[in-house]
Amino acid sequence: CGIVGYVGRREAATILLDGLKRLEYRGYDSAGICTLDGSGLQLRKCVGRVDALIAAVRARPLQGTLGISHTRWATHGLPSDANAHPHLDQSGRLVIVHNGIIENYADLRRQLVESGHQFQSQTDTEVLAHLIGRHLDEQVPRGQRPTAEQVVAAVHQATREAEGTYAIALLHADLPDCLVGARRGSPLVLGLGRGENFLASDVSPILPHTRRVIYLHDGDIVLLRSDSYRLWAGDQPVERPVDTVQWSAE
Ligand code: GLU
Repeated sequence: CGIVGYVGRREAATILLDGLKRLEYRGYDSAGICTLDGSGLQLRKCVGRVDALIAAVRARPLQGTLGISHTRWATHGLPSDANAHPHLDQSGRLVIVHNGIIENYADLRRQLVESGHQFQSQTDTEVLAHLIGRHLDEQVPRGQRPTAEQVVAAVHQATREAEGTYAIALLHADLPDCLVGARRGSPLVLGLGRGENFLASDVSPILPHTRRVIYLHDGDIVLLRSDSYRLWAGDQPVERPVDTVQWSAE
């Protein structure tokens, strides 16, 4: 339903939770957040209101200047803590949030289970996470860390196999300054700040921080760092116009 991602120099959790509050008008049944700090991926998620997630983060604070967050409107798998996003891949090092529906998730899930994958939820989203993780494993020799470009390539391969709609935001535990996004059929907007960049399912979480945005097209993949961004249409590098949002959502 709603996505907010951040990479920069400020505490990600504060910006992400504020962003989720600005997306609440869309309706949702659960919420979740994942940040990355020196000790790895830090995940909190729960069924219910964003305020319940904020309370959970207050009880167990989240550090890190990179993160993703989500409000879920369940389509596959009932509303529950386990089905709330973010979802990890098999390695536990790659994490995604997703809007949309992966139509062929049951077939993909069966293939992954046959090759030894284990699932923690009933969602189509977790299947997409595992599929991206499997394509990444195929490229990265055992014991080595993936590059950001390899993650982008894995997203491209997985989204070619996945049928249906998606907007995703993704982190990898080995890439502490990289936020990856992709979309087809569900909206995703890139916000360009100074020393920080944003991803969101609409402009409302971005506008308090910057008015410079790029609307991603179907099939686009984006790699954001705090000081730069790169865009691909499928596997081809592409440029998209930077728009300045004039109106205020405040
Ligand atoms: N299909 C996914 C799920 O049910 C994402 C739903 C959404 O867009 O919030 O978890």
